[in-house]
Amino acid sequence: MKPTRILLVGGGHAHIEVIRQYRRRFGDQGIEVVLVSPEPGAAYSGMLPGVVAGQYQVDQFLINLPALCADSGVRWHQGRFVALTEDRRSAVLEDGSILEFDYAAFDIGSMPRSRELLSAQSAGSTGVLLPAKPVTPLLAAWERFLAGLAPGQNRTVTVVGGGVAGFELALAMHHRIRGYQPGPDWQWHLVSRSEVLAEHNPLIRRAGRRALAQAGFQTHIGVALTGVESIGQQGQQLQLTDGSRLRSDFTLLCTPAAPVQDLRGSLLPLTDEGFIPVTESLQVVGHERLFAVGDIARFPTPIAKAGVYAVRQGPVLAANLSNIIAGRTLQAFVPQGRFLKLITLGERKAMASRGWFYARGDWVWRWKHQIDSGFMEKYQR
Ligand SMILES: Cc1cc2nc3c(=O)[nH]c(=O)nc-3n(C[C@H](O)[C@H](O)[C@H](O)COP(=O)(O)OP(=O)(O)OC[C@H]3O[C@@H](n4cnc5c(N)ncnc54)[C@H](O)[C@@H]3O)c2cc1C
Repeated sequence: MKPTRILLVGGGHAHIEVIRQYRRRFGDQGIEVVLVSPEPGAAYSGMLPGVVAGQYQVDQFLINLPALCADSGVRWHQGRFVALTEDRRSAVLEDGSILEFDYAAFDIGSMPRSRELLSAQSAGSTGVLLPAKPVTPLLAAWERFLAGLAPGQNRTVTVVGGGVAGFELALAMHHRIRGYQPGPDWQWHLVSRSEVLAEHNPLIRRAGRRALAQAGFQTHIGVALTGVESIGQQGQQLQLTDGSRLRSDFTLLCTPAAPVQDLRGSLLPLTDEGFIPVTESLQVVGHERLFAVGDIARFPTPIAKAGVYAVRQGPVLAANLSNIIAGRTLQAFVPQGRFLKLITLGERKAMASRGWFYARGDWVWRWKHQIDSGFMEKYQR
């Protein structure tokens, strides 16, 4: 008899937990699990600022998906999902191959909202305008930028987006550049539609502003990036909503999360913003054999696009895949209202934020390092 097949699309934070639990939940029941993802390395973005700052090596924050699958008894298939077939029982990949399934789950993530800006850039620009995700092209461009620097040179680096990702990456880049003997006129800019770290308490926001000012950042608050123009060998000119223009050699986009790819035409139901709507049991609305988790899913009560939710959905998804196959009642995912955020400050210091709680110091960085390393140890093979 053909085994029941679960197809996991995307090596995101929730799916790696389903893979880890495979033997315990499905291994002896004739259930086959297949993971399809475009790259063998799955990035743990909590450690990305540390990689950019030079505190971690790339392999310390990449989960080796083929190794994790091999160790767990899951089949690994490198490829990129494009669409479902008409009967919604097979997935079509970018290379044209087709993978059949009985149940499927989508955990394909998000990327900073940037599609229009990136297409403007491809019209002949020579500078670098990069979304913070996916991480492989970002890290390659960052290393190229660093390799092209000579001591005493002046450059302009701009970060667009003042949320945690933009804030952390801005200070991480600043920290790394200090080792390259930047020239006296090196410029740092941070452009943000809302106040920096706007979703945090006033103590965190004030400490954040101070950290950026000490690093020499000029902040442009209440404005957004509307366009980008190449200026020959001189990098790019960024056009801002307040009418000003900013010359920039390296521009990082940390704008709010958008779907990682345009899923229109995939036969998955989508919200107006292009995310996959799910029920409390993480099933795709209207399709009980399909599940979606992490950033790509739109939960009934809106939740932040944060890795912490994807991680917590992992065990619920694993349980519900097992429950639906066994005909048991499905569990509801109950999102936690508040969670602790540990925000790095470039050097080995960090801030802790939860509600009105504020703490700062090198011990917070060590605490974060311990949590991050513990997470990686669970999945590194
Ligand atoms: C700099 C930075 C720092 C952050 N720090 C934190 C933090 O400290 N805490 C926190 O909670 N959140 C943080 N976030 C947010 C966090 O990164 C995301 O919320 C989290 O990664 C979402 O996880 P996910 O499982 O949805 O997807 P991801 O972890 O992004 O995984 C998606 C996977 O799907 C694969 N994939 C993509 N397209 C396809 C396709 N078509 N077919 C098959 N596979 C596909 C990808 O290759 C990837 O393996 C940070 C984000 C950034 C940018």
